[in-house]
Amino acid sequence: MSNSVSSGPSVLDAPVAHVDLDAFFASVEILDDPSLLGKAVAVGGGGERGVVASASYEARRYGVRSAMPSVIARRLCPDLIILPGRFDRYEEYSRRFHAIIRDLTPEYEPVGLDEVFADLRSLRRLQVDPIEASRELRQRVADELSLRCGVGIGRNKLFAKLASRRAKPRVENGQLVEGPGVLWVSPALEAQWLNELEVRALWGVGPATAAKLDQLGLRYVRDLARVSEADLVHRFGTALGTMLAAYAQGEDPRGVVSDRVNKSVGHEETFASSLSSRDELNAVVERHADVVARALRAQGLVARTVTLIVRFDDLTSVSRSQTLAFGLDDEGAVSAVAQALLTTVTLAGAVRLLGIHASSLGRRDDNQLQLSFGFEGLARDPRAEAIESSRSSQVANEALRDVVDEIRGRFGRHAVASARDLGERGVEVETQRGRHAFGPESTRER
Ligand SMILES: [Mg+2]
Repeated sequence: MSNSVSSGPSVLDAPVAHVDLDAFFASVEILDDPSLLGKAVAVGGGGERGVVASASYEARRYGVRSAMPSVIARRLCPDLIILPGRFDRYEEYSRRFHAIIRDLTPEYEPVGLDEVFADLRSLRRLQVDPIEASRELRQRVADELSLRCGVGIGRNKLFAKLASRRAKPRVENGQLVEGPGVLWVSPALEAQWLNELEVRALWGVGPATAAKLDQLGLRYVRDLARVSEADLVHRFGTALGTMLAAYAQGEDPRGVVSDRVNKSVGHEETFASSLSSRDELNAVVERHADVVARALRAQGLVARTVTLIVRFDDLTSVSRSQTLAFGLDDEGAVSAVAQALLTTVTLAGAVRLLGIHASSLGRRDDNQLQLSFGFEGLARDPRAEAIESSRSSQVANEALRDVVDEIRGRFGRHAVASARDLGERGVEVETQRGRHAFGPESTRER
């Protein structure tokens, strides 16, 4: 490292970094199986309904992108190797990635497994400028994890995220072009980027909102500046309207929220063939409840709200939620609530996806199970019985759960399995994303 005086920005001018691992899932697969090196590799669902979750740069040269249906990816790249996800392994890498970030600053906010926003105003080392710190971070990720990442540095999350994307390698005319690795958005760049930025690239703008904005002639962020905040709020609601007005000025009200408790822990599965019997669906609910409860406990969390999502073959979806007076982290408890919710769903057609999400999360240590005074209020609720059974399950199973968790922690997830974990290939204990997180595998796959 040089001792020269840096000409980079001060952390006060560039307080936010966005660090994003390159082609994360695909890169981990290649690290674990070097015979894949230089090949077009994707992680995702290989079946008809599968989607690509992550693609190697070799695959990207053919136009393969994440979120692309696998059927299209195969058409673009007939030699594409599609691997199912191994989330245990990705979580392991993610933990090591976060540990490296933590050495940089205690104030960071993970986004998924492979992205982090970091607050550079609280760098552990003094007298280091943000660009130098980011270069060192990249080097450590390369040395210790053999992974690459892009780091974007800016005045706020908006610019930091835009910058990390441009810091990464990209494909141009089928050729891989290296990016700078670390990119700081200077004030001059801010104005230029904002001018070129399409609204669809903004956080919180999904396809439906983008289409609505397009109809109004608001395709670029610069177009938003012509509209008053009141008008944006009127058309898009308070939350999104004020965000759009802020973005138009290059502002981003979202701060870096460190030690953030995840907003929800969920598990969804798209079935290889759609299900129509309640028994089958109840069995799926039990399996999902296992995964969700295990994920909650792994993070020391309890959830007060359980949400069930059911998507039918005609792509219509139904969701049902129940909030309780106490927090849950027990599979029997989560399952009892979710099954009760399922009874309220009319099965109008075959079900192609079922999901369970746990939200209203809190720390397990703060859970006051014995003090659930709010409970009497629910006495006449038709779901009260399910809630009561859920509560007793939560209490009764506590000791057993701890033992099972401890054994799993010590000997791996496969050491203890309940009967419902027994699949055709033996014991299969699901990871948080599930067996078919990206759509079912085709039977011919691997
Ligand atoms: Mg990434």
